[in-house]
Amino acid sequence: MSALPSISGKDLETYDVVVVGAGFAGMYMLHRLRGQGLTVRVYEQGGDVGGTWYWNRYPGARCDVESMQYSYSFSDELQREWNWSERYAPQPEILRYANHVADRFGLRPDIALNTRVDGAVFDENTNTWSVTTSDGRIVTAKFVVLATGCLSNARLPDIKGLSDFKGKVYHTGHWPHEPVDFTGLRVGVIGTGSSAIQSVPVIAEQAHHLTVFQRTANFSIPAHNTELTAEERDAFRKNYPEIRRFAREEARNGIYAELPDRGALDDGDNARRARFEQRWAKGGLTFMLAYNNLILDKTANDTAAGFVREKIAEIVQDPETAKRLQPDDHPIGSKRICVDTEYYATFNRPNVTLVDIKSDPIDEILSNAVRTRAKNHEIDALVLATGFDAMTGSVARIDIRGRRSQTLNQKWAEGPRTFLGLMSEGFPNLFIITGPGSPSVLSNMIVSIEQHVDWITDAIAWMRDRGLEAMEASREAEDQWVAHVNEVAHATLYPQANSWYMGANIPGKPRIFMPYIGGVGVYRRICNEVAAKEYEGFVMTTKERAKKMVAS
Ligand SMILES: Cc1cc2nc3c(=O)[nH]c(=O)nc-3n(C[C@H](O)[C@H](O)[C@H](O)COP(=O)(O)OP(=O)(O)OC[C@H]3O[C@@H](n4cnc5c(N)ncnc54)[C@H](O)[C@@H]3O)c2cc1C
Repeated sequence: MSALPSISGKDLETYDVVVVGAGFAGMYMLHRLRGQGLTVRVYEQGGDVGGTWYWNRYPGARCDVESMQYSYSFSDELQREWNWSERYAPQPEILRYANHVADRFGLRPDIALNTRVDGAVFDENTNTWSVTTSDGRIVTAKFVVLATGCLSNARLPDIKGLSDFKGKVYHTGHWPHEPVDFTGLRVGVIGTGSSAIQSVPVIAEQAHHLTVFQRTANFSIPAHNTELTAEERDAFRKNYPEIRRFAREEARNGIYAELPDRGALDDGDNARRARFEQRWAKGGLTFMLAYNNLILDKTANDTAAGFVREKIAEIVQDPETAKRLQPDDHPIGSKRICVDTEYYATFNRPNVTLVDIKSDPIDEILSNAVRTRAKNHEIDALVLATGFDAMTGSVARIDIRGRRSQTLNQKWAEGPRTFLGLMSEGFPNLFIITGPGSPSVLSNMIVSIEQHVDWITDAIAWMRDRGLEAMEASREAEDQWVAHVNEVAHATLYPQANSWYMGANIPGKPRIFMPYIGGVGVYRRICNEVAAKEYEGFVMTTKERAKKMVAS
């Protein structure tokens, strides 16, 4: 196929598509669009490809979906030639994989690194976007794809005195490239989400003393991480066609796993306990698949939550600390379950202290201490494991102006609104990968990324074949989809947690359940049906209509 006709000012750089971000989403998007003969420019604010795995270099960082599944499936050669060393690969290995993909598919020439996209303005006369970058360029493109990541906008907590701290301050999502050595230091970690749960055991081994400041206790399941043998990898590869098919089409969360055949209350106490023990011994996120109603029925959920609380009490020797580590304010699974290596056991170490900042809040950071209401906790280094402005944070930082100069931030002031998580009405030819309203962070994200990228590529090719100028979500389809996303969410226990799925970790952010819970298989079918019905729910602008719109 030939490239889309360029709209061209001679002195402007013009592309068919601008892609923002060079994580797994941006890289695969580039690969697919280039395969269509389109001209593409990817802008990445980081110094290299890899996204999440470029930024999150904290000690203990690794994936929590098994690597044989948390990897691209689009190239059979790639999935056969890359040898994952562990069940859950560590961050450096995932970053090497991202770099390998960039080299293997020759992606680098079309990626501008160290370049942030600051703004994108839609021109209704030409149906093109003008994209402004941090190096002062303005480039134009028919399409813009936001591959900006759901967990890429690190959240700094607003704590009095933070800038007065004399030691080093690190955010897990912005970790330095050079090694950080905590040997002999008193270290404070603020936050107990996934990044803290991964890093705390590793930091505790180095630090002279580690103080963990916990606002909300989270449920964590052991990873039981091990090295992968060649035989295990081969066995997996042999079944790859079925594993990948199942993950895409049948799994709710994009992970191949044995699905439960009954609810938690269908078993008696002993049988239920045995089943939870089995899942605990297996480890990982699929603990929640012990029964089919754990996220739907509070009584069923309580049985799983109770089991994990008991495990915490068994592992942690000090009863007071164990109690503080037992989550009691949200159903298990209603916040992303964490996966750990020796997290709870770390609190048995004599050099680790847990401070509950719900009952003993942080008042301020001093030059050498975190001061809570009860006392000063002296520290030499501070780690902020305070998470991200999830799903919308990185999009919101770009000044995006659609029809009638409306900004996306204005439109999303009361919460993000999209059709299928892919497009928002009023913003033609602007696609979002794993955006709010799609399964996104509730899934194995590479499965969701590949599905979105394939769908967007097909949509652009379809438009080109018909000489169409613009594609936009209709207001009606968007309203219906937003209502559907909410309805499905509220049929589950998810909205009962103050989670980042709800924007609850960001003061002032509207509380709306952002990801689509319907499941990746169901969602894929809906997207495919929409495409098969000539993109039902999207408004297509023909050249003639565009001319009329300009004239009127
Ligand atoms: C520590 C951690 C562990 C995780 N583990 C898992 C896991 O096991 N399984 C799973 O499914 N998911 C996991 N995730 C989620 C993870 O984010 C996704 O799996 C995946 O890496 C997302 O890829 P992406 O390309 O969509 O986004 P990202 O990897 O976030 O990449 C987006 C890129 O866009 C760039 N960008 C953003 N805004 C701009 C701008 N304005 N201009 C230029 N560049 C911009 C960013 O710098 C970033 O590099 C994890 C996330 C974290 C933080």
